[in-house]
Amino acid sequence: MLFSCIVRKAFWERYVDMELEPYEQLCSTSGFYTWGEIIRDEKSGEIVEHNVTQLSIAMREGEGKAEELPEVWVDDTVLKGPAAQMRRLTSLVYTTMEELQNAQRDLQILNDKLRTMAEKDALTGLYNRGKTEEIIYNLLDESAFNKVPLSLLMIDIDHFKSVNDNYSHQTGDLVLKEMAAILENLANEHTDAMAGRWGGEEFFVILPGVVDDEAMSIAETLRKRTENHIFPEVGNLTISVGVITVAGDTNSKDIFLCVDKALYDAKEGGRNRVVRADLSDDDRTFE
Ligand code: GH3
Ligand code: MG
Ligand code: MG
Repeated sequence: MLFSCIVRKAFWERYVDMELEPYEQLCSTSGFYTWGEIIRDEKSGEIVEHNVTQLSIAMREGEGKAEELPEVWVDDTVLKGPAAQMRRLTSLVYTTMEELQNAQRDLQILNDKLRTMAEKDALTGLYNRGKTEEIIYNLLDESAFNKVPLSLLMIDIDHFKSVNDNYSHQTGDLVLKEMAAILENLANEHTDAMAGRWGGEEFFVILPGVVDDEAMSIAETLRKRTENHIFPEVGNLTISVGVITVAGDTNSKDIFLCVDKALYDAKEGGRNRVVRADLSDDDRTFE
């Protein structure tokens, strides 16, 4: 009986048969590959697994025959010496490389998942606040450098709290998802535009390369679309929008305060409306 470790097969590949061939000259052999032989340590009596070995067991029934055993011819040129060691090492390197590549691929998939989790809002799938801020800051830097203008829409759902109060928090969540879809569709209609969730029922739409009147017109389209949309269970809802256009070097803190002020003015003005922010507005009280 031959017990040959599966690791031998991996190392030796077709040569493993050459190795077993001499046994065939003695008697017909049968054997199988195991995941490593099992050895009993004589001293400790413990069973240990031992790899890359071959175990041969010969058994006989009755008296042994007096006749001489046939001489066994072994062609060990391939199996012995540095060449064989090289084969084994090469095989080991290939196997290790393959395993590393697999591990790297798994890691890549995990990394992609992690990035999505770090950048996206779990409920709506839009960019989260951190990523939205990062995108805006980067675009503001670009705008300061190459004077490419940028418009931002800050959006807040009107009386959203009453959705939660009158229906349920789950219905509120559904409304937020629908709102996100409306914003995503709008962003898809404009080159390089993006939508992000600022928090709660507040959102941003980022419109690179869009200025003043065009930004106002896009915001107005969004307002009308939302007003005409039938939200599940709830029906009609409205939004208020603050709009700001930035070109050149502007203090980013001022930009956020200013667009927030415009949104506040839209609320004060009766909601369901779009208000343009004025960066030179001396009347701003941000505290
Ligand atoms: P206004 O027109 O002045 O904006 O009124 P509002 O009710 O929309 O504003 P308010 O700030 O009073 O309420 C916002 C509500 O949004 C309160 C909060 O419970 C709810 N909210 C925030 N985040 C979530 C969320 O992830 N899911 C749900 N369902 N509700 C949320
Ligand atoms: Mg709000
Ligand atoms: Mg609101």
